[in-house]
Order: sequence, then C-alpha cells, then structure tokens
Amino acid sequence: MRDIQHFGEEGGVVPVIDVASTSTFLNPADMERTFHGELEGCYLYSRHSNPSVTAFGRKFAALEGTEAALGVSSGMAAIASTLDQLLSQNDHIVASRTIYGGTYALFRNHLPRRGITVTFVDADNLEAVEKAIRPETKVIFTESLSNPLLRMANLKGLSKIKDRHRIKLVVDNTFVPMIITPADHGADVVIHSCTKYISGASDMISGVIAGSREFISSLIDINSGSVMLTGPVMDSKIAHELYLRLDHLPIRLEAHSRYAQFLAEKMESQDIPVFYPGLRSHPEHELMKSHMNPGFGFGGMLTLDCGTSKKAMELAGELQNSKFGLYAVSLGFSRTLMSCPSVSTSSEIPEAEQREMNLSPGLLRLSIGFAGELDAQWNRFIESYRKVFRGTSA
Ligand code: PLP
Repeated sequence: MRDIQHFGEEGGVVPVIDVASTSTFLNPADMERTFHGELEGCYLYSRHSNPSVTAFGRKFAALEGTEAALGVSSGMAAIASTLDQLLSQNDHIVASRTIYGGTYALFRNHLPRRGITVTFVDADNLEAVEKAIRPETKVIFTESLSNPLLRMANLKGLSKIKDRHRIKLVVDNTFVPMIITPADHGADVVIHSCTKYISGASDMISGVIAGSREFISSLIDINSGSVMLTGPVMDSKIAHELYLRLDHLPIRLEAHSRYAQFLAEKMESQDIPVFYPGLRSHPEHELMKSHMNPGFGFGGMLTLDCGTSKKAMELAGELQNSKFGLYAVSLGFSRTLMSCPSVSTSSEIPEAEQREMNLSPGLLRLSIGFAGELDAQWNRFIESYRKVFRGTSA
C-alpha cells in the first residue's frame, strides 16, 4: 500500500469529518468555471464530491494500487454504477457463473431491462470465456474469490483475454482485500462491498470503486456520471469511519486468515468436507498462491458441505448455541458469521443453475472471525459437529 497522509484542520492526526452538503465559492465566478469543468480542486456539492469521501478514496486507491477510487453507498451501488458507466444499450457482459446472488440477479433480471445482456460462463475455463466474447462485449466480470464457492479466478489469464479483445476486466474483490490486488494482474476496475472486511464491524452498508483517474472522474461527471446522476453516494461520516478502519485492515485480515487456516486444517484432519483456499486440497490453491500478496494468508472464508440445507441449518444452530458464531448473512465481521447460501445469499439463482455451478443445497458458508480463543473455538466446533453428524457429544 502506498503511504498516504492527511491531517486534520488544526494539525490533528486524523482528518476532520466534513459534513457540509455544499461549499462556498468566495469568488462567484469560480462556481461557473467549476460547473464547466474549467476549474479543478473545488468542492461543489456533496453528491459530486466531498473532502471526507475524497480522503477515503485516496487511501483506498493506495490500497488497491489504482490511480483513484470513489466511495459509494453499497457494494451493489459500486457494481451497478460501474456497469452503468461502462455499458450502453445492446452491449454485452461475459460474467463468471459463480458470483454473489444479488449480482447474479442484477445481471439476469435488471440489466436486460436496459438492453444489456449477459452470458454466464465458468470463469476458470479461459477457453469458454474467450468463446463467449462477441463484437458487442464490453466487459468481463468476475469475483476474485467467488461467493459462495470460493473459486479463485485466473485474473492473469482473464486479463490477457480482455487485452486481446480491448475490453474491460471488472473484478469484485470483496472476499480478499489486501490478499489479492486485482489491478496488479490487469483488472481495469476493482469493486468492493465495504460492508464486509473493509468495515469489519458489520455496522454499515457501503461500497467503493477503484480504477483509473479518468474512469473515476467519469463517474461524477455532471452531465454523464452514473454516480453523479443516479446518486448512490457515500456519506461523509461513513467515509471518515472507513478511512480510519483501513489502518487496521491488514491486522484484521491476517487474524481472519490465521483462524480460518487453523480450523480448516483441523477439520480436514477429521475428514470433515471443508473447502478452503489455504488447503492443498483446494483446486486453486496454487493459482491463488501465484496471485496473492504475502503476509495476509488465504482469507477468512471457508465452506462445509453438509449434504442438505436442513443439515446445514441444524449444524449452524448448534454452532450458534455453542457460541462458535452467529447465523447471519454477510462476512468480514470479528465474530464468525454462518449462512446457508442455497436458501439465502444465492437463493436468487434458480435451483437448476445452482446445480450447474455445483452449489450444493447443504453448503454452509462460514466467515471465520477472530473473536474467541482459537482452541476453544475448535472445541465448540467439533462438539457441535459430532452432535449433528455422529449423534454423539465429544
Ligand atoms: N459483492 C459481493 C461478493 C458480496 O458478497 C456482496 C454482498 O453480500 C455484494 C457485492 C453486495 O454488497 P452490499 O451488500 O454492500 O451492497
């Protein structure tokens, strides 16, 4: 991450929160010049830009290795605004099949109403991706580590394809901030739901778009910017909170990864059907190693195949009673969160397509937190698991 320094108005060690929705022009002529794009660096109105949101954007761009970044109101706003800016009627997207259910529903149900079509492919099959590209294709969309299947995208391979076809590669990096830097592997735009690891406290909804200065500026263009004109902006107080929390992100991620790696290895040693990119048994373990930054581990997400959603929910119930974690959607919280995607965060995906993408109805997704002592967490887990699957108490 590049070093970034901002000071408070009176030299404070953190910047002030600028809550103003509008800014004064001491010379009235400057307002007109700003509107016409002839004067840069002036704040106008906070749907366009705000000093606290700008400070967060600069810090986030440093983290993602991009020229610029813009905070927005949610992860979905980040995805929708990016595609809105990049695509016009009759354009086409090639998207990974294994993506968050909300993104899938946006692509399948919402974008076609705007005349934009999507072809879903297995993004790890580079041949299939290239074959799906048509003259009207403008974007390849993938999650770096997919929700909920935890498949790692071959970003280097996808980047070569998008270069050959002169289209854009848009990557949702929500599951693995810091661990993967998609821009280093050729991504043009990187998106996050900041609701997850970036916030880390499950206390806000927010998102961010990172990319070239030109692209980020285009999002707030007063005549044609998707964020400026549809309005899903980030509130200055949220921007300030996130600005401060970015400093702890590496420490939090390392802890999430350490806990997840420990639990995944223990589970595997007990023949529990666990799926975690930090295990050699994960099909993209080596691919992930070839893309990741050292020092942060393989992330906090793991899955268990419990066979049926009934069994998955039964296990989650036991795990919640034992205080191992909480049965709640979302991820990136200090406490472990568990959900059954087939009936929750991926329920937007029709059952036949869930089968096609190998999404088991009994998949339990765990966002491993770092609260609680590690050995105690393992004991809680194995005790609950044995109760549910072996009918015994350890
Ligand atoms: N991207 C991914 C990978 C997600 O998991 C989610 C939400 O679960 C989103 C985007 C949407 O984020 P938000 O809920 O902040 O709109």
